[in-house]
Amino acid sequence: MTQLNDQFVRDVVEKVLSHVQSGWGDRIPPQPGQSAAPPIGANGSSIAQPGPAASSGQSFGQFTSVNEAVAAAKTARRAMARRSLAQREIACDLIRQIITNQADELGRMEYEETRIGHPPHKSEKLVGAAECAEGVKGLRTECFSGDHGITLEEHGAWGVIGVITPVTHSLPTLAVNAVNMIAAGNSLVCNPHPAGKRIAAHGAKLFNQAIYEKLGIDNLICVITDPTIETANEIFKHPDIRMLTVTGGPGVVAAALKSGKRAVCAGPGNPPVVVDASADLDNAARCIYEGSSYDNNLLCLSEKEVFVVSEVFEPMMEAMERVGAYRLTSRQMDELCKICIHPGENGGHPAANKKFIGAEPQVLAQQIGLSIPATCRTLYGETHAKHDWVMAEQMMPCLPFVKCDTFEQAVDQAIDAEHGFGHTAVIHSRLVDHMTYMGKAVDTTIYVKNGPSLAGLGIGGEGYGNYSIACSTGEGIVTPLTYTRFRRCTMVDNLRIV
Ligand code: NAD
Repeated sequence: MTQLNDQFVRDVVEKVLSHVQSGWGDRIPPQPGQSAAPPIGANGSSIAQPGPAASSGQSFGQFTSVNEAVAAAKTARRAMARRSLAQREIACDLIRQIITNQADELGRMEYEETRIGHPPHKSEKLVGAAECAEGVKGLRTECFSGDHGITLEEHGAWGVIGVITPVTHSLPTLAVNAVNMIAAGNSLVCNPHPAGKRIAAHGAKLFNQAIYEKLGIDNLICVITDPTIETANEIFKHPDIRMLTVTGGPGVVAAALKSGKRAVCAGPGNPPVVVDASADLDNAARCIYEGSSYDNNLLCLSEKEVFVVSEVFEPMMEAMERVGAYRLTSRQMDELCKICIHPGENGGHPAANKKFIGAEPQVLAQQIGLSIPATCRTLYGETHAKHDWVMAEQMMPCLPFVKCDTFEQAVDQAIDAEHGFGHTAVIHSRLVDHMTYMGKAVDTTIYVKNGPSLAGLGIGGEGYGNYSIACSTGEGIVTPLTYTRFRRCTMVDNLRIV
């Protein structure tokens, strides 16, 4: 009898301990790859959200049809909606791990397909993408508590998001978009740039495979493997897509804004730099060289033209030479411009000749019969303020420098060159008055003082980063919260514990 009682007590203690330690009480804890058991309603039936707990297909996100891609992404999103936040974070982390662990191979594949930019920077950009992809920790909940109870404000998913990515960083943009969108509870259908479609599809396949193996959900990240403007338009019009995110030039931003859907648009930039007479010229030269030459000037926030007050113009040009930039004469700048930049048509801005976007400086120099050292990362030279090198978003390592009579004139000309994109601007100055004056006047999303433009994305500066800077629609550097809908839940007169 005593023995039986002892056994009974031991069993009870073990059961209680196991419940307390697991934190799941009588409920069945979720197994790896499975949801927690759904909560039970008052009448004993499940009150779980409708929809399957896993998606059945194994397409690993590869689709030629927009309709099929959206249907698959919708199923995947409903399956994910039944999973915990911890499982969303597992999906995010798998993407981060793939782009970090396979950065060299994926970076090489991206370069071999697109043939633009500086090869060593391709893997760096993937590792950087993993670092800045925030995931679930980027979400938050606000709470109001008072005599009338408690109100929660949470950030819910939109559903399936339509995504357009640029050729300048095809996989890094897709990867960061995917992490932040999945963290916020969404799935996505991406129409990549046709010139970067293979690496986008390959990356999506790796992501989906890993997520499927771990969580049993396929197609959270769907890619149109043969993307065209027509498939982009199908995405823009699809009734099951409620939100768009586009990263690209003015054409795609205009098209997305015409769709009538909620659109987060990371559009073009033409970031100007102003250097005043108080600046530390050696530091300015180092920063401008680093920021403008990164990946051969492909980044949308890279320095694209420099306005220097006349008092320090020559010393600034000499400082650029000291850090390794190759100075062209004004005649050589004109000659190269005719080859690399198309003049603006019908009142539009001049535009880069696609053949030279992201080209190495040595390749640009060859166009005008020059041979420059292999270590040189950018060309530069003097032009006037309305020159096509200044007005075009060149996306190649050749930087125009403009001599200005006064600081105020430099700021005016910088604003003119920025075209109201509201993207990025940079100042080199020791005068707080000048920094403030330009910051207010230029009105850009990112404004960097005394550093390379990259510091505005947390690279050598404080703060978080991203490859999509939604300057056109005002959301700024995107985070998981950018991809959420505001939801409020109010409990009246109850639930306060104080
Ligand atoms: P792009 O505009 O040529 O193409 C971008 C994407 O839009 C591609 O997928 C393309 O196929 C698609 N597209 C273009 N026109 C379209 C239309 N009318 N309808 C539907 N889809 C269309 O740009 P790109 O050369 O790939 O990338 C460089 C541009 O992107 C630059 O202007 C750069 O500043 C900008 N960009 C901005 C950011 C940012 O965060 N703000 C980041 C990267 C690139």
